[in-house]
Amino acid sequence: MTAVYITIDTEYSAGLAIRLGLHAREAVYARSIAGHTADGAVGIEHQMEVMDAHGIKGVFFVDPMPALVWGTGAIAEVVEPILARGHEVQLHLHPEWMEIAGDANPLNGRTGRNLHDFTEDEQVELLELAREYLMQAGAPAPTAFRAGNYGADDATLRALHRIGIRYDSSHVPGIAGSDCRIGLPPPTARWSAARERSRCRSGRSAASAASAMRRSPRCRIGKWPPRCASACAGVWRCSISSATVSS
Ligand SMILES: [Zn+2]
Repeated sequence: MTAVYITIDTEYSAGLAIRLGLHAREAVYARSIAGHTADGAVGIEHQMEVMDAHGIKGVFFVDPMPALVWGTGAIAEVVEPILARGHEVQLHLHPEWMEIAGDANPLNGRTGRNLHDFTEDEQVELLELAREYLMQAGAPAPTAFRAGNYGADDATLRALHRIGIRYDSSHVPGIAGSDCRIGLPPPTARWSAARERSRCRSGRSAASAASAMRRSPRCRIGKWPPRCASACAGVWRCSISSATVSS
């Protein structure tokens, strides 16, 4: 039987924080975490309700970097409801918050959109800080990681190994033009065959979804469970591949 992980990137949107202002944390939470929409909430509580109804445990990759500007209490508001329902919290990291943090930037003003914009030593520093924030917010020590924007490189895998995090989930060969720079070899024939056989909820094959995505890279996912819009990238990104860092 094939093991499948249901994983959710869970974060205060850095872009929304910039647009609305840092005073608007609660509004950013409502939009980014609770997922409030005109048709109801589609955020973490709704997702957990659906998963609980089907006996499924989710893995929520939580970005603790907003603690730079809002403190770890803001991250605890994300972590606590996930743990309270028995789901799993792992580590996510969006370096965009380094620029938003201003004077609180822990790397003396160094900024970047993706982890691969930083040296390996800087990545170690950021990952250790993020892990510390996540644990201060009540999460158990994380064992798995996903880079914000999938923007990891090989130095990220070495950095994760150095701090003892064994699993990475940033490699996304199914997303055309992603920010991932991990140097794994191209998909094998076996992977490609499995991908070709895969079908999303609308019946579109993964290959045709990828083709549609190249024409229209924006994939809008509606209510949970995800449904396809013009392309299905969001459906496939969850579990295509994980890289294990061997010790
Ligand atoms: Zn993210």
